[in-house]
Amino acid sequence: MGSLTSSSEKAEGGGSRRAGWKEFTSPGRGPWRDVPAEEWEDWRWQLRHRITSLEQLERLLPTLTPEERAGTLLANRKLALGITPYFFNLIDPSDEYCPIRRQVIPRIEETRTAPWEMSDPCGEEAHMPVPGLVHRYPDRVLFLVTDRCASYCRYCTRSRMVSNASGYDFHPQFDRQIDYIRRHPEVRDVLLSGGDPLLLSDEKLGELLSALRSIPHVELLRIGTRIPIFLPQRITPGLCEILRRHHPLFISVHTNHPRELTLEARAALERLADAGIPLGNQSVLLRHVNDDPEVMLALVQKLLMCRVRPYYLYQCDLIAGSAHLRTSVRRGLEIMQRLRGFTTGYAVPTYVIDAPGGGGKVPITPEYVVEHTDDRIVLRNYLGEWYEYPEVPDSPVPAVHRATCCAPGTV
Ligand code: SF4
Repeated sequence: MGSLTSSSEKAEGGGSRRAGWKEFTSPGRGPWRDVPAEEWEDWRWQLRHRITSLEQLERLLPTLTPEERAGTLLANRKLALGITPYFFNLIDPSDEYCPIRRQVIPRIEETRTAPWEMSDPCGEEAHMPVPGLVHRYPDRVLFLVTDRCASYCRYCTRSRMVSNASGYDFHPQFDRQIDYIRRHPEVRDVLLSGGDPLLLSDEKLGELLSALRSIPHVELLRIGTRIPIFLPQRITPGLCEILRRHHPLFISVHTNHPRELTLEARAALERLADAGIPLGNQSVLLRHVNDDPEVMLALVQKLLMCRVRPYYLYQCDLIAGSAHLRTSVRRGLEIMQRLRGFTTGYAVPTYVIDAPGGGGKVPITPEYVVEHTDDRIVLRNYLGEWYEYPEVPDSPVPAVHRATCCAPGTV
């Protein structure tokens, strides 16, 4: 399997900081300790008091490095700086390689674009029949709701539009987006994303979900959100009540490191789960953040404790300016190999590469088939032991069986 000492492990000083990853704690109020509880717990207060400037960052984080300072100065031309006070308090100020810090504080490396990097790595613009609606797969669409997020991830696949720092000027036209779906009966699954859909007001989100639910061929609604992680205060009972009215509705959250799963995040996820919403998680494999089997194991196990099923682990998309956060695919495969068989199957996500240019998600798995012939398949289990299973010829389905049981219109 090779050496599994990772860049993040080296950066975090080996095992010394692992203790506590599985514990649920609260980041507390930190520098905002004098703010009344009712304000701190108000999601709109958190949004109004986000850290958005170098001046704020220098005051709150005296250990800001020259690379971070230079990156922050330039961030507003690429992807804005934005961090909620709640999430900011998860940063370890004494650790330049803090996995929380690397996700949200800009660095100068973001201004360097590797030859293979792109502004639209998933080729979404080429599959947009109306502004804000991506129709790439046969039976489902991506419905972009907003270009705003509670905090901004420095590796965001959609950084060309999110935060509007580079002047994309996103203006979703919900009427046109909904009309397209209404006119396309093959669309049975609508994924709301952005930006973060849960930043809409309760009223606006309720209206949008109701409009989509009124389309008879829409079977499934999904929401992609990082709000339970960046802004758990937003998951109010009122919001849960609105979401509950639009089942079947699934939510995919986005968590990369076990420290993001705090007491507050767990409570928010439990409120969503109690509203009957199946929860999945999408992680991005990031250098010095989670490119370590022990970090990933703690993350996926902790997610299950929050009633969230790990869904995808993404190889970092080829978004411009993200090379410093990218790991090798080999590293991702090593991590997957350390999960499968070593922990609960429900905890094991599918490792995927979103094929550059719009090819869609391609699963990448360690090799478990050693040999496959007409009469046997040789398998390697998670411990590296080999096992043999007999192969049998496929026999055609008898014509009479096909006619009575499978042919359209016969039942
Ligand atoms: S929350 Fe999602 S859309 Fe927003 S910046 Fe992060 S990755 Fe991008």
